[in-house]
Amino acid sequence: MKPRAFDYVRVESLAEAVSLLERHGTDAKIIAGGQSLMPILNMRLASPAILVDIGALEELKGISVKNGMLRIGALTRQAEAERSVEVKQYAPLFAKAIPFVAHPAIRNRGTIGGSIALADPAAELPACLLALGGEVEITGAKGSRTVKADDFFKDLYETALGPGDVLTEIRLPVTGKATRIGFGELARRHGDYAMAGLAANLQDGKNVRLVFFGVGSTPIRAKEAEAAFASGIDKAVSALDHDLDPPDDIYSSGAVKKHLAKTLLRRVVKELAA
Ligand code: FAD
Repeated sequence: MKPRAFDYVRVESLAEAVSLLERHGTDAKIIAGGQSLMPILNMRLASPAILVDIGALEELKGISVKNGMLRIGALTRQAEAERSVEVKQYAPLFAKAIPFVAHPAIRNRGTIGGSIALADPAAELPACLLALGGEVEITGAKGSRTVKADDFFKDLYETALGPGDVLTEIRLPVTGKATRIGFGELARRHGDYAMAGLAANLQDGKNVRLVFFGVGSTPIRAKEAEAAFASGIDKAVSALDHDLDPPDDIYSSGAVKKHLAKTLLRRVVKELAA
């Protein structure tokens, strides 16, 4: 299928993007790497009147470290982050997860911000952002604001981003020596969205964040399993019965997904202990 006709503007400044988004409201859509949006338009799952292309905004690109945070500009390509020495050193959980995002050709175009903004519940990077306790910077008509990952993911494909907002930066607390990270996912083929996945972050051997993806409408922190973690892996695995209630999807039942989540927890915990 082909998309419905739309207007297209490649903006030259963030202010221009915000002004266009404000003027057109829900009739406008931002396009970044286009790797999710173009299929959505082609299948006519969305038919915006105007696409606002932010691809030329250099200030939204790049990776740096400042004030104990690794900062990734929203327009940074997934492939660039995958190759980045800073990401490997300061956010090894992201470095580990990126190769699981789709395939190299998609990561060459797809952006880190596009993945976070889309917030697919089976996507790797939103779960990592939440597991690391990161935050995002958003700019809209009323200025800029910082939103913690814990408050960002609201519901299925629904985030703290409003129709006039641009996600400009992702910030991840620098992973220090006292941190252990773990990541695992089960997919039908490498590069597919996960049937179930887990991003984990253990601080000082005791405070753990366990974020599952592919098992609900958002990335999900398994808070009961986190609380039970210190009492041993069997207790943490049992607690997932309270934390997770995955819906059936076209590939597997909710019961299978929960089984996969439990298997992943047993696997990933070994990485946290290493
Ligand atoms: P776009 O497609 O341009 O935009 C996606 C959405 O985010 C749109 O609604 C857009 O308006 C909005 N948006 C983009 N940037 C911003 C911004 N800065 N501020 C506000 N809103 C913004 N992803 C995974 O995570 N895991 C996978 O396994 C995976 N497999 C894939 C397999 C295939 C075959 C394909 C085609 C895609 C797959 N993806 C997967 C999605 C891919 O990673 C996308 O690149 C990514 O999700 C979106 O990034 P993008 O830059 O292409 O965003």
